[in-house]
Amino acid sequence: MSMTLWGQRASNFDIEELCNINDGKPVPVLFVGCLMKTFRGQDYISGSAASKWYFNPDIPEVSAFSNRLSNERIHINHLPPPPPPNQPQQPQSMPQQEISYLADLQRIDPYDFPTNGCLCTVTIARLIADAPWWFPSCTRCGKACTVEGNTFRCYQCDCSNYKYKYKLSFIATDGTAEAEMICFGPVAQRIVGRSVDSMMRTVRHDEDFPPDIAGIVSHKFTFAINMTSQSFYTCIKKYMITSIITSYGRQ
Ligand SMILES: [Zn+2]
Repeated sequence: MSMTLWGQRASNFDIEELCNINDGKPVPVLFVGCLMKTFRGQDYISGSAASKWYFNPDIPEVSAFSNRLSNERIHINHLPPPPPPNQPQQPQSMPQQEISYLADLQRIDPYDFPTNGCLCTVTIARLIADAPWWFPSCTRCGKACTVEGNTFRCYQCDCSNYKYKYKLSFIATDGTAEAEMICFGPVAQRIVGRSVDSMMRTVRHDEDFPPDIAGIVSHKFTFAINMTSQSFYTCIKKYMITSIITSYGRQ
């Protein structure tokens, strides 16, 4: 079973020193406060800020374990360091931004979230029940209008001109974590593959989500995302999709 240490936990773990103090023999380590996860079909254990480890802990299980491994030696496989910044980089389709894992993004303080956003590759896991998938948008200011009689009005502009726009909320996953995401208008239309007007014409009132909306579940995308302003004052982080970089279709 593989184990991944993230961020500061990873840089604090000195494998060379550990190898030296035990003469290259395997060192039993007790890891606590880890999470069991699955990524791309592989189970692994993930350590976070809450994790702790104990070398050679004084517990009965350790002596049996040590005896079994006494003839083995630690083998460290170092990955090559990233190229220095002045070396010409391989041409890439997305040179400025790397794909971020949701588990890492979920840990970032909203104030530390990159101001120009992040990229993430995720699969839509499920729609958020009871969340409306459309809203009447004021044609003047773009904000949501309020119901007035059998029509809608923007109280900000005192106008009754509106058009329907998509507002899609769903849970996305990349195997490292799940996160709530929201998108509007043209971005949502690209995900659904149909205009909101044609969707409104065929909508039936006895279904929670029209089949075309329900059908986005299990589709995979690379999104450019930003943190919603709401994430700054609630404990649940929510990401706004600002554009679609790649669409991979149903998984
Ligand atoms: Zn308005």
